[in-house]
Amino acid sequence: MKVLVVNTGSSSLKYQLMDVQNESVLAKGNVDRIGAKQPVLEHEPAGLDEVKIPCNAKDHTEAMKLVIDTLIHPDYGVIKNMDEISAVGHRALHGSDKILESVIVNDEVKAILRENFELGPLHNPANLMGIEACEEVMPNTPMVAVFDTAFHQTMPPEAYTYALPYEDYEKYAIRRYGFHGTSHRYVTRRLHELLGIPEEGTKVITCHLGNGSSISAIKDGKCVDTSMGLTPLEGVPMGTRCGSIDPAIVTCLMEKKGFSPEEMSEYMNKQSGVLGLSGVSSDFRDLHTAAEQGNKRAALALDVFNYSVRKYIGAYAAAMDGVDYIVFTAGIGENTPSVREGICKGLSFLGVEISEEKNNKIVAGNGIEGKISTDNSKVGVYIIPTNEELMIARDTVELLNLNDR
Ligand code: AMP
Repeated sequence: MKVLVVNTGSSSLKYQLMDVQNESVLAKGNVDRIGAKQPVLEHEPAGLDEVKIPCNAKDHTEAMKLVIDTLIHPDYGVIKNMDEISAVGHRALHGSDKILESVIVNDEVKAILRENFELGPLHNPANLMGIEACEEVMPNTPMVAVFDTAFHQTMPPEAYTYALPYEDYEKYAIRRYGFHGTSHRYVTRRLHELLGIPEEGTKVITCHLGNGSSISAIKDGKCVDTSMGLTPLEGVPMGTRCGSIDPAIVTCLMEKKGFSPEEMSEYMNKQSGVLGLSGVSSDFRDLHTAAEQGNKRAALALDVFNYSVRKYIGAYAAAMDGVDYIVFTAGIGENTPSVREGICKGLSFLGVEISEEKNNKIVAGNGIEGKISTDNSKVGVYIIPTNEELMIARDTVELLNLNDR
C-alpha cells in the first residue's frame, strides 16, 4: 500500500511516495519555483538516477499533475497508475488551538487552515493550495493533514501563556503554539521504541537542531513546553532567525533604523541568527570551517548557539523536575559532534556525561541512531535521525484505517 506525503511551500511542492508496508521510500522529489520562471521538477526514484524535468507549472495544481505524471512515467516512474496511491498525507503548519492531533481533511480542517493564515502567513496558504491541488488532481483519494503545532497542544496554560494583557490572548489568540511537532513526536516515539519502554513515567528533552531549531520538554510522551512560540521565531538562535531577544530591542531598532513592521520582521527572520552574528553563513558547516580558520565571530556564533540550547535544557529539566533522556535530531543535531559536546559539557550538574568516542563516531547522515552518553551518565543522551514524512505516512494509514482494508 502506497501513501504520498506532500509538503507545500509558497512556490514549492515536495513529495515522497512511501510503501507503508515496509516503510520504504519509492520516490521523492520537489517542484521548485512554481509560478515563477522555469520551474523544475527534481525526481529521485529509489534505485534509479535522479531526473530533472524543466516544466511550466503555473500553480500548485499543475505541479501536482506533473508529480503524478512523473510517478507513473514509463521510464522513471515507480507505479503503474494513480489508483495505486491509497491516500495522501499533507504536512501543515498552523492549526492554532483547534487542531490537537492529525486529522482527516474535510471542509472544517480547510476552514481552520484558512482561519490561521495570519498565524502562519507563509505556510498555511501554501498548505491549503497543496490540499486543493490534490483534491482536483486525485478527487477520490482520501487525505490526512498532520500539523506542526498539534503535538504541542498538551502544554499546560503556564507554559503557553505570555504575560501580556489577557484580553489580547482571548481576542487575538496570542500564545505559545510551538512548531516541529511532528519531528519532536517522531523522535520521542522512536526513543521509547529503541529502549523498549512505555512513554508513561519518562522525562525527555528533544533538541531539533537544524536550520530552524526548537527544544521540547516531553513528559509521559506528551509535550509540556517548547521553545518556539506564537511563530517559529522564538527560542534558540537559528540559521537566520534571532530567537528570543529582549522585546524592547524591537521598538528600539525600529526607531533607530526607521524599519517598518515588515522590515523589522525580515531583519529578525532572515538577517539575524548565526548568519547575522558571524557575517559568514547560516550553515553550520561553513561556521565550523570559518571558526577553525580563526574567524572570531563565527566562533562566537557557535558559542552563543550552544549556550542557548544548554540553557533551554536546564530550564526544561526544571520544568519537568528532572530529565531522563536528551535526544538530538535534524541537520545539526544529527551530524555535528562539536555542537553536541558544546551543549552537553555544561550539563554535568544534571548527571549528563557523554562519551567522546561515541559522540565523534555517530555522524548520522545515513540514518544511524544511537546512544552517545557513557554508562555512568544519569541521563541517556541519544541521536535519532528525524523522519517527519514517515510519521505523516503512519498517521495517514492509522487515521484512515488503511491497514484494515
Ligand atoms: P536541516 O534544517 O535539518 O536540514 O539542517 C541544516 C543544518 O544542518 C545546516 O546548518 C547544516 O550546516 C547542518 N549540517 C551539518 N552537517 C550536515 C550534514 N552532513 N548534512 C546536512 N546538514 C548538515
